Amino acid sequence: MSNVGSCLCGAIEVTCDSVPSEIIACHCTSCQAATGGVATYSIVMTETDCRITKGSPKKFEEKADSGNNLERFFCGDCGSPIYSATPAFPGHMILKAGLFQKLGGLNIVTNIYTGSAPEWAPMKEGVPDSPGMPGS
Ligand SMILES: [Zn+2]
Ligand SMILES: [Zn+2]
Repeated sequence: MSNVGSCLCGAIEVTCDSVPSEIIACHCTSCQAATGGVATYSIVMTETDCRITKGSPKKFEEKADSGNNLERFFCGDCGSPIYSATPAFPGHMILKAGLFQKLGGLNIVTNIYTGSAPEWAPMKEGVPDSPGMPGS
């Protein structure tokens, strides 16, 4: 089964071979600035399972709150965040869940960096959370 996600303008498309189901919500300060919201809602997939199948996203590099280098890929035409990549998750694409609007069955499984979440951030009850990176 193939799952295709796309940005706001449709210039970029991502295709996954397997069905994503788990969302990690990251409330770190750079995710807030990068999305203009309270968090990024990400699906972590392997590069062998997912690929860009249309267009080529632009890249912004930064040092994340974790101290790792983080590459944020986004649509250069409409600005939609597409995915992130970091040496902390080698071989993985950290895809934005909002690209996959036609996909059902997605659930937030963990909230991270809740220590820097804004007061107005909604948090789903009963989901494990961590004030920073889990395990650190
Ligand atoms: Zn776009
Ligand atoms: Zn973050």
